[in-house]
Amino acid sequence: MSRLAERYHAITGELPRGVSLLAVSKGRPAAAIRALYELGQRRFGESRLQEALAKQESLADLCDIDWHFIGRLQANKVRPVLKAFSTIHAVDSLPLAERISRIAAELQLRPELYLQLKLLPDANKGGLEPEVLASQWPLLQALPSVHWRGVMLIPPLGLSEPELRGLFCSGARWADQLGLEGRSMGMSNDWPLAAECGSRIVRVGSSLFGLD
Ligand SMILES: *Cc1c(COP(=O)(O)O)cnc(C)c1O
Repeated sequence: MSRLAERYHAITGELPRGVSLLAVSKGRPAAAIRALYELGQRRFGESRLQEALAKQESLADLCDIDWHFIGRLQANKVRPVLKAFSTIHAVDSLPLAERISRIAAELQLRPELYLQLKLLPDANKGGLEPEVLASQWPLLQALPSVHWRGVMLIPPLGLSEPELRGLFCSGARWADQLGLEGRSMGMSNDWPLAAECGSRIVRVGSSLFGLD
């Protein structure tokens, strides 16, 4: 078995029931995506549009791959991202969500969206803060051409395990309060903890594809 296959089986073997794996393939070659596809993986996460489009083209024969956009989405990329991805994980503002809904309506699409939350201060990341979320949720929820799937978190760097646990648990509580089933929480270093705290989809790159 290849090292990639070993790592894939190790991770999927540990995933609790009800938690799915998003294989974060940014920076990885199309051949590695194809190898995981052959092992049964279908959901892949990319964060750079041009790179993703090139790989999608060379993998066009794999017609049931489910592509998720996980990067920060710039306004001018909304249209091509909607054409190429089923799901967007980092919707971090009302104006962005409004734009997604408007363009999705034009394209006759209804993308799956995760709302990125910023539950702890973090100068480097986007996300809606709790007060903003509380006041804007009615407007977000009313957007006609999107399907709100869940909440998404990227923890600030350097949190201790108890702090991470607290953050993931409050992410899960927010999803409950908003009535959303999805929780996109957990990456290579912290996905087991996120899964314990109720994550439904973990975004794993380096511990799956390797650091090489
Ligand atoms: C790159 C990335 C991941 C995967 O990170 P790893 O630590 O390599 O597992 C997950 N989520 C987002 C938003 C990313 O940009």
